[in-house]
Amino acid sequence: MVARIITVAPIGYEGAIIEVECDATKSLPSLQIVGLGNKAIDEAKERVRSAINNSMLDFPKKKIIINLAPAELPKDGAHYDLPIALAILCVSGQLQQIELDGAVFAGELALDGNLRPIKAAINIAQIARESGYNNLYLPQSNVSQAGLIDGMNIYGVSSIKQLYLHLKKEKIIIPYARSPLECSVAHILSPPTLDDIKGQEQAKRALIIAAAGHHNILLSGTPGTGKTMLAKALVNLLPDLAPEEQLSATKIHSLGNKINGEIISRRPFRSPHHTASLISIVGGGIQPRPGEVSLAHTGVLFLDEMPEYSRSILESLRQPLEDKKIDISRANGHVTYPADFMLVGTMNPCPCGYFGDKIKECACTSTQIIAYQKKLSGPLLDRLDMIVNVSRVPNELLLDSESLCQSQHITASDLINQAITIQNERYGSSNKHNGTLCNSDIKKYASLTVESKSFLLTAANRLSLSARSYFKVIKVARTIADLDNCTSILPLHIGEALQYRR
Ligand SMILES: [Zn+2]
Repeated sequence: MVARIITVAPIGYEGAIIEVECDATKSLPSLQIVGLGNKAIDEAKERVRSAINNSMLDFPKKKIIINLAPAELPKDGAHYDLPIALAILCVSGQLQQIELDGAVFAGELALDGNLRPIKAAINIAQIARESGYNNLYLPQSNVSQAGLIDGMNIYGVSSIKQLYLHLKKEKIIIPYARSPLECSVAHILSPPTLDDIKGQEQAKRALIIAAAGHHNILLSGTPGTGKTMLAKALVNLLPDLAPEEQLSATKIHSLGNKINGEIISRRPFRSPHHTASLISIVGGGIQPRPGEVSLAHTGVLFLDEMPEYSRSILESLRQPLEDKKIDISRANGHVTYPADFMLVGTMNPCPCGYFGDKIKECACTSTQIIAYQKKLSGPLLDRLDMIVNVSRVPNELLLDSESLCQSQHITASDLINQAITIQNERYGSSNKHNGTLCNSDIKKYASLTVESKSFLLTAANRLSLSARSYFKVIKVARTIADLDNCTSILPLHIGEALQYRR
């Protein structure tokens, strides 16, 4: 008799159903696993053997062959332990095939038979659901994450013995039920709010516009002007994650290197260091993992001192900024991860940082300054809608009262939410923002008045704006008009948008 247990192989952002087949013959006792498994799966033999023996169940004294089908798919991870153990219990008659049919199993076994948390639980749940399975058995600590997938009975299992008793209907496990209040505490970084920043009214205004229209933004200024703090405050201005955004962000994070059952309930803020490797930024590895551009999906990718990043890293951002996803090709396959993030960068105006400062003198030569600023290539700068100069805050302002800012912050969130609602209605989708419009969309939706059009044309000629910059000004002006709850773009909106060009 051959036993069959269903599990899922996560492949990048997707996955496939895997059948764990098991056959036992009367021969010298041994356990063999075939079907393109990697080292973790080969080591499952020892874990499964110990786990079964330590759970007061019988490990059959026969020649056992496990086949992971389809055989051509590479398989990775320790979550095959549980289905392998169940297949062995089934082939030896301790469980019946009928007790295992219609369900999907995944879990890593400890030697004492307990279950350890696994990676990609949410992928496994999604693939199982899409393939028509209604029952899923996972390690206890993975159920809340997998519970983001609706319409399934998800059972949290703590040990193989507990699952055995459940399948034998001796001690039933109650399926997991998500409570509406349940909100895991992932990403508790508490970023500064606009109230924490003194002065910098123009920069704060720019952040509100960037957050409302999903505009990529670069903050330029001398050291110590609070650029980093401003950038960090931006993530607090963005609206809460919608349920489907929560699901996609959690899914990506569950594929990362850290195994835990957390749910991403706040917008991610990723700030990779400038010495980070290209693979850690874009994703990759032997089994391609998501990189920072994907971990920042639905949130903010923050690059502090952008010119310090290597050319290859900066150039690698162009594809995800354009397509909102990243393709990773490796010898053993091709993976696509979502990468829809807002890019927020900071830079000094020159290598020493004081070019244009009123107090300290710049020590750089003009050649050095030009070379430094050129590190951000034209195509990358083209993807930054707004460039804002952040200047020093006079010392007397630093201790100024906060009452004004307090009230400003409340209106800031309200304003942003209002502008986002207007955009959602205009574009009929919550994924489209002014900042992500293509040129034909801009022509369709801009609604410039006659005066605005002629004002923009005059300005474009006088400032010799490129075509790209021209459209960018319209995009930013569209957001400013939305913040004003104004259906047409007026000359004053164009005027403000022009300030955010270099
Ligand atoms: Zn300098």
